[in-house]
Amino acid sequence: MAARSQGEALRPADALRSIYARVDAETAARASFRCELSGRCCRFRESGHELYVTTLEFEEMVARGGRPAPGDGSTCPWLRNGLCANRDGRALACRTYFCSDEGGAAEVTERYHREIRRLHEERGVPYAYKPLHAHFDDS
Ligand code: SF4
Repeated sequence: MAARSQGEALRPADALRSIYARVDAETAARASFRCELSGRCCRFRESGHELYVTTLEFEEMVARGGRPAPGDGSTCPWLRNGLCANRDGRALACRTYFCSDEGGAAEVTERYHREIRRLHEERGVPYAYKPLHAHFDDS
């Protein structure tokens, strides 16, 4: 493979993956952040929360995990048999939701979210940050 010349930009999807890699490395190093594979974060209605993702994040979810039927919004459409069927493509908020969180995950999420927002701006990708089901509705 040809070496990337200095200043040559990564494709937006690759740049997003690079951000996700840093998120995963940082969160893996924090003992208080443990994913217990409970699937709680993926059962939106039961957990009382909503998954917000950006345009590029949604595109990455579909690129890596296919495009399932969106369902009624009560659970994530990539949740299968209690487990995430889109681990590689899951969004920032999936990567920073920890059942064990004793504080700190919100700061990590916000910091990397700013990077992801900047990525949209730098690459001229329209920035839409909205609930997952709204992306399904609009694309
Ligand atoms: S993408 Fe995976 S981790 Fe994220 S909410 Fe959906 S099933 Fe859960």
